[in-house]
Parts: sequence; C-alpha cells; structure tokens
Amino acid sequence: MISPSSGVILIAAILVGVLGLAIGSFLNVVIWRIPNGGSLRTPPSACPKCGHPIRARDNIPVLSWLILRGKCRDCGEPISVRYPLVELGTALAFVGIVLWAGLQPAGLWLLPAYLYFAAVSIALALIDLDTRTLPNRIVVPSIAVMAILLAVPSMVTGDWFALLWAAVSGAALFVFYLLLVIIYPSGMGFGDVKLAAVVGLALGYLGWGSLIVGAFAAFLLGGVFSIVLLAIGRATRKTGIPFGPWMLLGAWVGIAFGREISQGYLTLVGIS
Ligand SMILES: [Zn+2]
Repeated sequence: MISPSSGVILIAAILVGVLGLAIGSFLNVVIWRIPNGGSLRTPPSACPKCGHPIRARDNIPVLSWLILRGKCRDCGEPISVRYPLVELGTALAFVGIVLWAGLQPAGLWLLPAYLYFAAVSIALALIDLDTRTLPNRIVVPSIAVMAILLAVPSMVTGDWFALLWAAVSGAALFVFYLLLVIIYPSGMGFGDVKLAAVVGLALGYLGWGSLIVGAFAAFLLGGVFSIVLLAIGRATRKTGIPFGPWMLLGAWVGIAFGREISQGYLTLVGIS
C-alpha cells in the first residue's frame, strides 16, 4: 500500500491540472487534424477562415479564448467554444484522476496510464462524434501504450497479477465486441472492436468489478441515450449513434465507481 500524503496529492493535482490545460490544447489539434490525415507537427495552427497563423500569445489555453472573446484576432471569425471547453475539461479530468489515484492501492503510479487513457478518451469521443470513425492512428498504438504504462504501477507494487488480468480483460472485451460486430454488423464497427481492447486493459487492471461495471455501463448509458433520442423524435431507428463515446464514458464509470458498485451489488443480492 503506497499512500501518498495529502500534501503530495495537492501538489500533484495542481501540476497535473496545468499539464491538462496544455494537453487539452494539443488534443484540439489532434481532434481537428487526425481525421483529415494531417500532420501534428507542421504547419502551425492557423485560423480556418483567414489562414493567419495563431500567435503564441493567443495560444494560451482557455485564457486566450476569453481575452479574444471567442473571435479570431485577424478576421473576427468566431472560434468555437469547444476549444476552451476541451482544454478546461481535460484539466478537470486530470485533477479528478489525481484525486482518484490517491485513493488507490498503487497510488500516483497509476497516473501515466490513466492520464493517457483520459487524453485518448477525450480525443476519440469527439472524433467519433464528428466523423463516426475511431482512427487507427490513435486506437492501435494505444493498445501497446496502455500495456506499457500499466506495467509502471506493477513494477512499483510487485502486483503483476493486475497486469496479467488487464491483458486478459483487454482480450476478452476485444472478442466480445468482435462477436457483436459479426452478429450485428450494422450496429458497430471494427474501430469499436479495437477500442474495446484499450478499454479492457484500463478496466481490467483495476479488477473484475471495474471491468464488468465499465462494460455494462457503456450499454446502459448508450441505450438510455438512444431511447431518449427516439422518444423526443431527434432520432429514428435508422439514425446511427456512434458507440465509441458511450464505451469510453462507461469505462470511466467503471474506473471511478466499479469496485463500489460491484461490491454493493454483491451485498444487495446477499453473496457477500
Ligand atoms: Zn481569422
């Protein structure tokens, strides 16, 4: 048991929160450029309307958008509120993960893997909503990156069983979604199948309770949302709803509350 002191957690939360603003700014570039096949390095970000490169001083997360009142400095074109929201959302998610990790047996050593998974979750959820695709360029390397980053807490704690269980869970969730796509091809795509391997790794490392709650929450949240859309007439049965965002949101429910929910359920049905 590695219990970081509250002082260490507070400092980590502040540093990681600032890091989150910067990563969120980078994610905005990823969300915009990866589906269009663009490079992440060149050219520098420019206004989509007038093409003027964004100045360094106008590229400060959240603050620049507020100072410019959501408009391009050169042509006055509105800049979507989504950019500062992604930056702020990433920062808040990162802070939340620090507070969560502080309560886990492996402590802050979980941060590399779960901060990475948070960044990937935000990028993929928004790309899937925008384009109905989960790009291989992000999903496939993430399987290896998550496996490597999850080895970090195992090295520190000596709990290699958790890493093995993560690998088994990644494979199991991959096969489960593969079967779903084969049985029901119009429902999901192979992007979802590959993403399931990443999600399975992230959930499985925390134990079977997190895995089951996280996997189940995806269908529950996605299903409820679809029913609401159908009920209010915003969707018909033919409207495809991307599943990636629900798989990811469900995963985070499993990460945050999986153990408590599964334990509560077992108590409720009288098993333990
Ligand atoms: Zn402009």
